[in-house]
Amino acid sequence: MKSVYDYIIVGGGIVGVSTAWQLQQRHPDKSILLVEKESGFAKHQTGHNSGVIHAGVYYAPGSLKADFCKRGVERTISFCAEHDIPVENCGKLLVATNEQEVERMNALYERCHVNGIDVKLLDEVQLKLAEPNITGLGAIYVKTTSIVDYRLVTEQMAEEFKKLGGQISLRTKVVAAEEKDEEVQLTCISDGQTMQLNTKFLVTCSGLMADRMTKMMSIPTDFQIIPYRGEYYRLDSKHDRVVNHLIYPIPDPDLPFLGVHLTRMIDGSVTVGPNAVQGWKREGYDKVNFSLQDTMQMLSFSGFWKVTQKHLKTGLDEFKNSWWKPGYLKLVNKYCPSIKVEDLKPYPVGIRAQAVLSDGTLVHDFLFAESARSLHVCNAPSPAATSAMPIGEYICDKVNEKIEAKTV
Ligand SMILES: Cc1cc2nc3c(=O)[nH]c(=O)nc-3n(C[C@H](O)[C@H](O)[C@H](O)COP(=O)(O)OP(=O)(O)OC[C@H]3O[C@@H](n4cnc5c(N)ncnc54)[C@H](O)[C@@H]3O)c2cc1C
Repeated sequence: MKSVYDYIIVGGGIVGVSTAWQLQQRHPDKSILLVEKESGFAKHQTGHNSGVIHAGVYYAPGSLKADFCKRGVERTISFCAEHDIPVENCGKLLVATNEQEVERMNALYERCHVNGIDVKLLDEVQLKLAEPNITGLGAIYVKTTSIVDYRLVTEQMAEEFKKLGGQISLRTKVVAAEEKDEEVQLTCISDGQTMQLNTKFLVTCSGLMADRMTKMMSIPTDFQIIPYRGEYYRLDSKHDRVVNHLIYPIPDPDLPFLGVHLTRMIDGSVTVGPNAVQGWKREGYDKVNFSLQDTMQMLSFSGFWKVTQKHLKTGLDEFKNSWWKPGYLKLVNKYCPSIKVEDLKPYPVGIRAQAVLSDGTLVHDFLFAESARSLHVCNAPSPAATSAMPIGEYICDKVNEKIEAKTV
């Protein structure tokens, strides 16, 4: 281990690995260390998601999300082609099942044009022709949506980082961080041993722990990470061909991540989900999940109470459907009536790291915090897996700007 690294990146999810790799490409002579507390990459959000390369339909024009996603699609697909990672361009249908959704669908269709996304509007008959098992009044057909396994993408990027001379320290958890004497000092627990790492510049991409990293660095912020579980089922294998595309409901613009979808996975199976249920443990993947530390921190945050109160009915519905399969099934049957309760088989849960402001606002866009010698990704919501390469590029630009500003 070096005494002082030029850069340390914390987080072996897709955002951290993409950042480390691109930083090493820009600075081949600099020493860069990627630190991850788990024994491998993509063990949290990156390895527990729907595997969709999103086209960028929903995002507010001009937002970082819209820009990153559009550029991310092309870069992800060409990276996968270069490294023989399987991708399937199956396309997606956003299906409207009632008049309110038709109205929202038309607004979304306009937004797609503003965002420069190639889409087509299907009427009821065209929808039936495209998807005989799906019922709806119409749909937006998004041609450029594809599927992939993001764990493979992340592992390959880590390989590329290593080939350029990047160093990786797995099973290394950062437990304290302090900026002093022109450096950032990190205290880590690695394989049960306490050790210290020093760097001239720190970048953290720590997903569900993002607020804890800024707190360690004493950077004043106004957000906390609230974990929302995304529970899935895998459909019985007899339904592997039930749909030809990915099938999504038309989202509620206030809660765009709500609404279970039918997703064809790259391994040939079909999943249904995810819902959005309050989590009580940030990295609690079991059905019963509870951490005293995580829960106490949440309960003492005013933003948690405000956001919960604001979306109380939705939250209770999601909770009920989480424990009562027929309720969950109803959400799917709305557009796919042939699925039965016995078709819903267990599938691993994913947990969203959702930044919530102290006034109860759910942060929908990317959020960053910084100090003189550090930059922190505080919110990297879906489609951050799709967008990981442009996000990494953006972080590298920001880091360069900060370092140049110091040397002028
Ligand atoms: C249910 C669900 C479905 C989704 N579906 C999609 C989709 O289909 N398409 C899409 O584009 N996006 C999707 N997303 C979003 C996407 O998966 C995430 O936005 C993305 O993976 C975030 O990556 P990340 O690197 O920021 O975080 P993570 O993947 O969570 O990685 C953070 C890493 O930091 C490490 N870490 C944290 N604290 C420390 C510490 N103290 N010391 C060392 N290491 C630490 C963690 O162990 C972890 O490995 C989905 C997300 C969820 C939850």
